Amino acid sequence: MQLPTEFIPSLRGVPGFDAEAFIAVHTDSTPVTSLRLNPMKPAKWEQGWNLSQVPWCEEGRYLSQRPSFTLDPLMHAGAYYVQEASSMFIRHILEKLFQPEAKINIVDVCAAPGGKATLLAAYFQQALLVANEVIKSRVPILEENLIKWGTPNTIVTNNDPAQLGRVQGFFDLMLVDAPCSGSGLFRKDPLAVSEWSKEQVALCGRRQERILSDVLPALREGGILIYATCSFSPEEDEDITRWLIDEMDMEAIHLEINAEWGIVNSQFPGCFRFFPDRLQGEGFYVAVLRKKAPVDFFSGREAGLEKVNSLKSQLFSNVFGLESNHHLFQQSGAVRIFPEQHWPALCLLAGCLYIKRAGIELGQEKGKDVVPSHEWAMMWGNKLGWPTLRIGKEEALAYLGRQPLQLSLEKGWSLLNYNECFLGWVKNAGSRLNNYYPSEWRIRLLSGG
Ligand code: SAM
Repeated sequence: MQLPTEFIPSLRGVPGFDAEAFIAVHTDSTPVTSLRLNPMKPAKWEQGWNLSQVPWCEEGRYLSQRPSFTLDPLMHAGAYYVQEASSMFIRHILEKLFQPEAKINIVDVCAAPGGKATLLAAYFQQALLVANEVIKSRVPILEENLIKWGTPNTIVTNNDPAQLGRVQGFFDLMLVDAPCSGSGLFRKDPLAVSEWSKEQVALCGRRQERILSDVLPALREGGILIYATCSFSPEEDEDITRWLIDEMDMEAIHLEINAEWGIVNSQFPGCFRFFPDRLQGEGFYVAVLRKKAPVDFFSGREAGLEKVNSLKSQLFSNVFGLESNHHLFQQSGAVRIFPEQHWPALCLLAGCLYIKRAGIELGQEKGKDVVPSHEWAMMWGNKLGWPTLRIGKEEALAYLGRQPLQLSLEKGWSLLNYNECFLGWVKNAGSRLNNYYPSEWRIRLLSGG
């Protein structure tokens, strides 16, 4: 790889930067492959992959080689998320600052495609998570990843940071994984190398300040901001952290790390750099800060979400055996549930944000029948004792590719189980077998391959 000419000189003096080792690791080595396991979906692993522990993340694993993830049904079942190892450090930050049971409000401001949002959802069991993505075309991949992961307490929004900022003082934890010049991913993405320039870095720095100043009003006094980039440039990292401290009334927080991990403590407390020549992971920067500035709490008007009429509500309650700690509502023709404890928050947010989805879809009414949703299957599987069928890899791939299936099933709805994880629904309609895997997620298999 040929690094951009101005790149190495631009990093001189950066804490932990060793030009020779940096160039060597960008010339002779390949990026590491890693994934994060879904603690809610313990699967049977028989892919023969050689997994080893990512030191700073309990669920993180390195792989000795990069397999074809598309051809592993467990990925589509949400048993794991393929994620760059350095960015899994967010898990360590959470562990140091929050209990998993914390009932807090969290916003992931730049959430697509959902790596860190699924990490947040995995760590917090009772918190409300708002996963936001400003770019409309990137929202579907965020939704897909969250659905596969299974996230009942999550709201997906499609707003710009200034609109989020209107929800004043609402959030206890804010993650800004900012769009950046991307030098941390040079080993993985040749496009990042060809697009890098000093002008681009300056532009990104200005955009990062704009995003942060727009969205910070939504963080409560004493709330925590995690600011991250995958850039090595100080203009996007320490300079932004300094600006947050000097201009935005934030304070950096000290965090313990294990010196053996190879992570570099940068110039402020709670501010860390990841270099691929020092650890198994790509370039990453993260700063943890607390907001000092007082802020008035948002006092907007609640919006009503579409109610479900009592007949329909009865039908869905019968089919899904609903517990009282959930609220039923309707969105785009589908019946959904949301945890009762976060319902007031959802109504408040619906008054000022564009809610793309919230909670879990139960299904849709079709004549006298209910078509159970894929979201339900991904979240709760056969919690209600629906018939299930264990299938092998070949059948699982045919199902995910929406190809014709030859399965022996009871009449009606069944869930397909692959290595202890659920892939989705099929229906034996008597004369034929209907495949209910979402068509927009269908995997394309090469013929003969
Ligand atoms: N957090 C994500 C994850 O872990 O999968 C990755 C986020 S990526 C580094 C940055 C995100 O910011 C992208 O999804 C991009 O669409 C979004 N973005 C781009 N421009 C933005 C802007 N002006 N304001 C807010 N977000 C922006």
